[in-house]
Amino acid sequence: MGELDLVRSIRKWTAGKAPGLIVGVGDDSAIIRPRAREDVVLTTDLFLEDSHFKRDTHSAADCGWKALARALSDIASMGASPRFALVSLALPPWVDRKWIRGFYRGMTALASRYGVRIVGGDLSKAGKLACDVVVTGAVPTGQALRRSGAKPGDRIVVTGTLGGSSLGFETAKGPALRRHLRPEPRIEAGEAIRSKLGATACMDLSDGLAMDLHRLGKESGVAGHLHWALPLFPGASLRQALMGGEDYELLFTVPPSVKLPPVIAGIPLTDIGEMRKGRAGYVTFAGRPLPVSGWDPFKTRSV
Ligand SMILES: [Mg+2]
Repeated sequence: MGELDLVRSIRKWTAGKAPGLIVGVGDDSAIIRPRAREDVVLTTDLFLEDSHFKRDTHSAADCGWKALARALSDIASMGASPRFALVSLALPPWVDRKWIRGFYRGMTALASRYGVRIVGGDLSKAGKLACDVVVTGAVPTGQALRRSGAKPGDRIVVTGTLGGSSLGFETAKGPALRRHLRPEPRIEAGEAIRSKLGATACMDLSDGLAMDLHRLGKESGVAGHLHWALPLFPGASLRQALMGGEDYELLFTVPPSVKLPPVIAGIPLTDIGEMRKGRAGYVTFAGRPLPVSGWDPFKTRSV
């Protein structure tokens, strides 16, 4: 498996045209041309063997899907639409050509769903598999959703259901496992939350509701108060919904005057609480202080 040969194959697997793409894989850099009246949003996400996935639970195609889904979720959280991706891989000795083919198969299946074009990347060797995905997105000038805009009195809203990924990780079966292996970035919902709902703040739920609401409150300078009733993934526990990570749903706030539709872009919405004046980032659940815990790679060791 020579590098040149591999690059040639990856170029073939990711080939295609896209609006605004001048040069893709094959030159020293890709060239893209931004449109007028758009801001470009950028994100990068690391996906590491034994830290974010394990060889025996995630197939090659699951890894490709999930590595891209994590980055797309960050684009969704800004209310942006994804455009281009750069994918870098550090490959350990256990990886063969078949694995890499599967990885790109999973990744391009998700990419093509949202019109994302892979326009470059890098290849290297390492002791364990490491993947870095950079994604660019576009949003009308000045309109991107941020974590910092929530105001006292705003409703706290979440898309979809919570705890599914954590349940799938713990039980390794059923629809929850699929949710864990192949999360769905809420791209259309993010765009609709930005353009139709007048959301004041938004982020994606990667590290658990308790931790992520704390972060949003901290950036906005408000305290978050959650109701008892959360939209649980079927079979998931409250602990999994509050503390489990990797749900990749969107957490956002709207002014109290906004009439919340039950569904947006096909995804159910649930009013789960209210922002109030108070210590920035303070969170309560059903009237009690909620400890901030969740997935923090600098504090815990787990997958
Ligand atoms: Mg995020």
